[in-house]
Formats: sequence, C-alpha cells, structure tokens
Amino acid sequence: MTTQGCEVCQRCGQPYATVYRVQNHLWERITGRSDGGGVLCPTCLDSAARQQGMTLYWQACEDEFPEPPGSGTKNQTHVAHD
Ligand SMILES: [Zn+2]
Repeated sequence: MTTQGCEVCQRCGQPYATVYRVQNHLWERITGRSDGGGVLCPTCLDSAARQQGMTLYWQACEDEFPEPPGSGTKNQTHVAHD
C-alpha cells in the first residue's frame, strides 16, 4: 500500500487521503494546538472531538472547497498531485 499523496495521522499512525477543512477555533479546541499544526485523520479528529463532548458534522463536496461562511479555517489539503 502506498502512502503517496496521503498524510499520516499523528494519532493512529494510519495514512489517509481524505481532504477536509476545519475551522481554526475548532481545530485548536480539539487538538489543543494554537499554531494550527498537527495532522489528524477525519476519524481521529471526530473521535477527539467526541471525547470533549463535541459533535462534528461532515459535508462532502466535489472538486473545489466551497467558500466558507466566515474566515479562519484550516485547510487539510493534501491532494495527490506531486
Ligand atoms: Zn487517525
């Protein structure tokens, strides 16, 4: 199994290719990081949020990211184009 074009989750260590976006303030609350860093797969992010009593809602979109309703989002972008 190749991990090219994937990120490796820092929590479970599994490669993942899902591209998703998280609002900065949510990312900071869930990960405890204020620098916007860190790499989590969607499953681990969801799990970490639940452990803190938060429920995340996921929306799937095709192609481009839709414009966010507000500013301040963290793009988990790692499309396989290298
Ligand atoms: Zn993970």
